[in-house]
Amino acid sequence: MDRFDPHSVMVRSSHFIGGQYVTDSQAEVLGVRRPSDLQLYAELPVASAERVDQAVQNAWQAYRHSDWARRPPRDRARVLFRWADLIEADSAYLAPLEAVGSSRPIRDVLAWDIPYVADCIRFFAELADKHGGQVAATQQDRLGMMVSEPYGVIGAIAPWNFPLSMGAWKVGPALAAGNAVVLKPSELTPFSSLRLAELAVQAGLPAGMFNVIQGDGRTTGDALCRHPRIGKVTFTGSTATGASIMSACALSGPKPATLELGGKSPQIVFADAPDLKKTAQQVAAAITGNAGQVCVSGSRLLIQRSAAEAFVAEVRQHFQALRPGPTWESGTTLPPIISAQQAQRIDAIVRRSIDQGAECLTGGALFDGLPGAYYQPTLLSELDSSNPAVQEEIFGPVLTVQTFDDEEQAWQLASHDTYGLAAGIHTADINRALRGMRRVEAGTVWINRYGRSFDHIVPTGGYKRSGIGKDVGKEAFEANLRVKSVLIDIAGQ
Ligand code: NAD
Repeated sequence: MDRFDPHSVMVRSSHFIGGQYVTDSQAEVLGVRRPSDLQLYAELPVASAERVDQAVQNAWQAYRHSDWARRPPRDRARVLFRWADLIEADSAYLAPLEAVGSSRPIRDVLAWDIPYVADCIRFFAELADKHGGQVAATQQDRLGMMVSEPYGVIGAIAPWNFPLSMGAWKVGPALAAGNAVVLKPSELTPFSSLRLAELAVQAGLPAGMFNVIQGDGRTTGDALCRHPRIGKVTFTGSTATGASIMSACALSGPKPATLELGGKSPQIVFADAPDLKKTAQQVAAAITGNAGQVCVSGSRLLIQRSAAEAFVAEVRQHFQALRPGPTWESGTTLPPIISAQQAQRIDAIVRRSIDQGAECLTGGALFDGLPGAYYQPTLLSELDSSNPAVQEEIFGPVLTVQTFDDEEQAWQLASHDTYGLAAGIHTADINRALRGMRRVEAGTVWINRYGRSFDHIVPTGGYKRSGIGKDVGKEAFEANLRVKSVLIDIAGQ
């Protein structure tokens, strides 16, 4: 893909409503920049409350009048399987569309994101007919039935860091459970979701069951959350936005919301970790992958003092070997920060951290002379738990280093005042790993590895202010259903 021309990527800046592209000439417009070189490459309409209403009403009509929710679940599954196949077959179009507009290197989109998205949709398709209701004999002459039913229209709001995958996390389970969906992708990465919706219709999804509306959070996202026909909201993004969304859902309903939010996840490394060199490589990858713009980035290294010096030197080597570059070059190993504004935010936290006593072992600045905003992988040490780089989600390639002497100290350092999204524990002692697993307040704990893979069966979600509810896993499928209780008197005729 080195000779791939980013200018050749065609984008259609519109909404996708009722099975077709809808232009919005009256709308307020936002410019969209490619993160790799910060060039303006498209304009985006901001859906007004009226446009949001049109999309939601379309979804509601499709839910009521198409047979999607009522047809045998295996028939729904067949359409979803076809959709997954079309996504894979479309990689020549979809991969550049995703890579050019986001921080995802094209190599990773081809090798990881597209197969992951297809596999995720297949996982939910497989669940479509595996979920029965329940019957209970509550009394001698009475039966109780619990019947699961879709909500109707799900409002889905996604972040910019993995546009395709986050779309699949939301839309896959919602459709498999029989709902219609209105998805609002991030205004920074709006385009690949349109293609997902177009392919779903090609696969046989009834028009109107999957709609995409474009716009910012303040106007479009807020109107979506507050719309009376939205049965439930599913959101992935920052903790602050999650709180606004929950409040909008409360005031306009109340209606339920699943929230996947931010993190500040520790990677705890004991001196007896099975292979310290390999662990150092994993630790580096867990904070530099997607340039640290991953919710579960392992942004806090907690290392046992006896192994610290050699281990940190090893991590630093991995940091320094990374090659920044545009997402469309296959040799890029460090992608850009999503926007100049976000890069400045990262730098500001690093400056405050250093001002408050942190020592910068490597990095600590933007790369010079590159067209986009590329942040140097940064190691900060000599800091205590009150330092801003330990407290705040940075969402960039910045790793803090803290040392501990014994297990108890490790678990104490691992706990965070605000976040509880994920944690990694590296040790050869399985009992210690399991003790840590019980002690760490986090929605996911990895032992001797770090990061999600194609483990769709394992749900993801946060403790504390990292979220409410789960994405992926059968939990995500069930979260798109509500339970109706039926009581039947069988004493008479
Ligand atoms: P963000 O919260 O700024 O925006 C996310 C989405 O919400 C965007 O589509 C945005 O337009 C919309 N939005 C903003 N304000 C809104 C409002 N008031 N009402 C409705 N919608 C609104 O997040 P981001 O910067 O796009 O993504 C980065 C954040 O996402 C990080 O905090 C990261 O940790 C988090 N994230 C979490 C997970 C997870 O699974 N827990 C996964 C990926 C990203």
